[in-house]
Amino acid sequence: MPLAATASVLVDGPSELVFDYAIPEDLKVLAGCRVRIPLRNRSATGTVIRVGKASENDFSLRYLSALIDPEPLVTPTLLRLAEWITSYYGTPLEQVLRSLLPGSIRGENTSAKTKKAAKIKSPPNEEELAALSKKAKRQYTILSLLMVSEKPIPIADLGGSKITGALKTLTEKGWIEILDLEVRRDPDAGETFLPTEPLALNSEQNAALKAVETSLKNEDKKTPILLHGITGSGKTEVYLQATQATLDLGKNIIILVPEISLAPQTVRRFKSRFSKLSEDIAVLHSNLSQGERFDEWHRIRSGKARIIIGARSAIFAPVKNLGLLIVDEEHETAYKQENPPKYHARDLAIVRGHLEKATVLLGSATPSLETYQNTLSEKYHIVKLTERADGASLPLTRVVDMRIESRKQKGRDAILSDILRSSIKQRLESDEQVILFLNRRGFARSLQCPPCGHVIECSHCAIPLTYHRAEERLICHICGHQAIVPRTCPECRDPAIRLQGYGTEKAEIILRKVFPQAKIARLDTDTTRRKHALRDTLRDFRAKKIHILLGTQMIAKGLDFPNVTLVGVLNADLSLYAPDFRAGERTFQLLTQVAGRAGRGALAGEVIIQTATPHSPSIQFARHHNFEGFVEQELEMRKNFGYPPYTHLALLLARSSHERRAEFTLQTLHRKLQENLPPEILLGEPIPSPLTRSHSQYRFQLLMRGPNARTLSRHLNKVLNATPTPEDVIVTADLDAYDLG
Ligand code: ADP
Ligand code: ZN
Repeated sequence: MPLAATASVLVDGPSELVFDYAIPEDLKVLAGCRVRIPLRNRSATGTVIRVGKASENDFSLRYLSALIDPEPLVTPTLLRLAEWITSYYGTPLEQVLRSLLPGSIRGENTSAKTKKAAKIKSPPNEEELAALSKKAKRQYTILSLLMVSEKPIPIADLGGSKITGALKTLTEKGWIEILDLEVRRDPDAGETFLPTEPLALNSEQNAALKAVETSLKNEDKKTPILLHGITGSGKTEVYLQATQATLDLGKNIIILVPEISLAPQTVRRFKSRFSKLSEDIAVLHSNLSQGERFDEWHRIRSGKARIIIGARSAIFAPVKNLGLLIVDEEHETAYKQENPPKYHARDLAIVRGHLEKATVLLGSATPSLETYQNTLSEKYHIVKLTERADGASLPLTRVVDMRIESRKQKGRDAILSDILRSSIKQRLESDEQVILFLNRRGFARSLQCPPCGHVIECSHCAIPLTYHRAEERLICHICGHQAIVPRTCPECRDPAIRLQGYGTEKAEIILRKVFPQAKIARLDTDTTRRKHALRDTLRDFRAKKIHILLGTQMIAKGLDFPNVTLVGVLNADLSLYAPDFRAGERTFQLLTQVAGRAGRGALAGEVIIQTATPHSPSIQFARHHNFEGFVEQELEMRKNFGYPPYTHLALLLARSSHERRAEFTLQTLHRKLQENLPPEILLGEPIPSPLTRSHSQYRFQLLMRGPNARTLSRHLNKVLNATPTPEDVIVTADLDAYDLG
């Protein structure tokens, strides 16, 4: 008998093997199905990536053994998205599929949770019932409860083990049956969400909603929409009403937020607005237990959950009939996955929207330059919200020149200016709260002269050179240019340029000395390692058990504390002069977000920014809330120096516990990359990473840039595939890298 069809199966495991199998006649196998297969003399599992017609030569194929799940776990679109990721980021498909379908979802170590329940099978007649009510009270009660209930009732709720005998009799009589009821492990069980009504939109919000609705109804052409709205302008209200409009069309919605633990209000607002449909909302994030994730995922897969809110991996939610994809705070780097596949969830949203003909809505108060450039070139639409929806005004922002403070406090690190110190004191006296930021992102340190503010930069690349202590050298992280460390500032001749800066820990010590009566809490990667530490500290802060919250940028996002009337940025230069071409953009975003934190309640807010370069454009534009002005000069710099959004970027990293071998491997790759290098690609020199050692591994890196992402990744992956690396060296590539070490 001729074969009907064959399936190409990607075998689970790191080998990336794909084999063809014959499909037995009685199995309905589709692309995306999980299957069991014979592999040599054992049995293995895998995912069907293609189903095809059998050809003449296929008579020798072995048969698939079994289907693991009756329905494909990966929808056809998600399979195509996975293939897109493989070709763009160069991550093997098997590894991509493992991201799409983690073990907890494949049901390998988790399964649906059930409990026994009873339901009516065929009810007794009147006489039988009357008889029971006299001689078998317990059976009578159970029956009357079940007869009025539309749903099965868990046995535990009917009386548990006390009623075992009664249930047995009722079942034997054929009146009721016992079945397994699936119970949902609900991460928000026990919380109540009071329903909210849609607000009457202002005219800008209305225009934004109309743009989304037009796109939803336009079947063939879906242009992504950027919602550029200042903090507090009512973007979330637009998301809520756009979600309703999508539900009304019978379609489903994914909402991405940068990090769930930092967006509890967003989740609450969705749950409240759609609380009548609470079964319809699923939440996906990394803090779910395996069981909760399994249940949420399968509720999405079965079509029960129609609104999905989640962090970046929720872009892989197996939603069918997707109508709208919302990416809140689209500029956030938390959307970039740090482990392979190193995808960017916002970029995947655009791709998925295109594959599924869904509307993509990106929202931000400070859009990324990548996205903004796409609105300038009219690839995306833009709609703007220019005023705060609740009528509040933006806080007053003051910039303090720390060069003057540094001269006053001779030689020591000036942490608190006189203005900031007295403003904090005033807030403490009137029982208001203070947030202080000290950005200590990354490990790289550039050299800045405290007395004059001068920063030593690479003349080719317009970024600060990075100080490498081990080599006593200054190195450019873009092109590899090296320089010796000057003994005095090239600008003002002051030797203070070599002084070490300070971090959050030291700032905390000083704050405790200056404000001994105040309750102070610190939030950074060191203090939030404990599970729930971040959540607990924020809760205490909200309850006013903490007066001053000192933290890194992790607390800048989306938080809303009505009693905070003062926000201080201790040293804006730490972020502004990070050796990264995005430093200006990040500083602008940070300062804008920070300003959005102050004065959200009835009290007026104030922002104080401390810097040794008070006239730098990022600070001045942020102070005047001038996004367009900032973008204009920043795009010009990016264009002149060949940075994104005008180019794509790839970071190649080699790490090993053997320093020389890591370095040598990267040098070899560099040489290979130089051969047949497409002329439009700029290839940087191999250099030690800013984070020179991590987990006792030495790290070396190089950067490549080119106008076309495909050309870049093709060249890179060709070289990587053709160059064997020593066993103890790990090489990773990061296309569209955000973290430059
Ligand atoms: P964003 O998401 O842009 O930061 P929000 O949606 O959180 O802004 O809105 C800020 C505040 O304004 C919230 O308290 C919200 O309830 C309120 N708000 C939003 N839209 C309106 C509106 N049309 N009328 C009145 N208040 C609104
Ligand atoms: Zn350089």
